[in-house]
Amino acid sequence: MASTATRLLDRLSALPSSDESILSVYLDLDPGRFPHVRDRRAELDSLLESAQRQQLEAGCRSRSERLALLRDIEHLRERLAGRDELAPPSARGLAIFCSEAAGIFEVVRLPRPVAPAVTVGRRPFIEPLIELTAAERWAALLISRRSARVFRGTRERLTEVEGALDDVHRRHAQGGWSQARFQRGIEREVEEHITASCEAIFGHFQREPFERLLIGGPSELHARAQRALHSELRRRLAGHFEIDVERSSADEVLHRALPAIEASEREHEDRALVRLREGMAPGDHASAGADEVLALLNERRVRALLISESYSEPGLVCPRCGWLTTNCDVTSCPVDHSMLERREDVAGAAIEAGLAQDAEVLVFHHRRAELADFGSIAALLRY
Ligand SMILES: [Zn+2]
Repeated sequence: MASTATRLLDRLSALPSSDESILSVYLDLDPGRFPHVRDRRAELDSLLESAQRQQLEAGCRSRSERLALLRDIEHLRERLAGRDELAPPSARGLAIFCSEAAGIFEVVRLPRPVAPAVTVGRRPFIEPLIELTAAERWAALLISRRSARVFRGTRERLTEVEGALDDVHRRHAQGGWSQARFQRGIEREVEEHITASCEAIFGHFQREPFERLLIGGPSELHARAQRALHSELRRRLAGHFEIDVERSSADEVLHRALPAIEASEREHEDRALVRLREGMAPGDHASAGADEVLALLNERRVRALLISESYSEPGLVCPRCGWLTTNCDVTSCPVDHSMLERREDVAGAAIEAGLAQDAEVLVFHHRRAELADFGSIAALLRY
């Protein structure tokens, strides 16, 4: 039932914006939070109710659109009716895209937990999926003396997170700030605003973790914000940049953030190359070149997959279990005997196989020439 994430992403992001509404659902299957099928069923029910509310609140939807959504919800419930559908082996989450009118029904098994989410819109909601297939998830806290915003995403795209700082805004709305203005010094108020924003982004991080954090805004506040961060976030801090907090668009934020993101990527790639060179000693724990690396992915022995963004090679993939090879003489999967599918490029399937075995996947954007010495694809092994 599951589609592979990277292939689907290509397809979904290429969809023209349609007149039909598309229902997008992200279901968290983390056994810590939703251990039983009945918990997951309740999670799904509450998301679907929220989809109907969202549509009602949007107001202007026509009767036929409301009926279309009800049909999609019904269809989705039917497809996820069985126990197994809500307890797929080794999946930590599901992404579902559904629109009968647009001819879409896709279920994607996710290798990592996601925050539960639902949208009804002209476009499928694919940002969480992009984040899941990216090696590093980034967040940027923009903070000025008065306001704060949170963006998150990847080197490709940052999106503003609505509501990430709700607690801070709620306190504003309760009038605490304006009264405080008269009772206490402005500086103290700014300090409280910074502290509250840092607490709020830590809350957001606990719900939806990210690997790296940037602070943006006037430079005079960077050190103060850094001090106010929870130690867990300070550890993830990758840099600062100056930006107009109130007026900048998501593209401007990404533009300012990119030098820090790229610097961090270069460091990350350099460290991985050191580990790779050390591990390449005979009998040691690294391996290079497509033949060996794909075989190790098939054996689920990969701890870190190093792959160049320019790596591309035709090959064959098992549609059932993801078994991979570049040897085009093989016809059926040695594990389950399914007919193998031909791919112009096995890079995406290799990345998915890595994610599915909880390997760190590092796509090289900078040190490609260095990785080319190892065939542009390499692995560090678990054992
Ligand atoms: Zn197979």
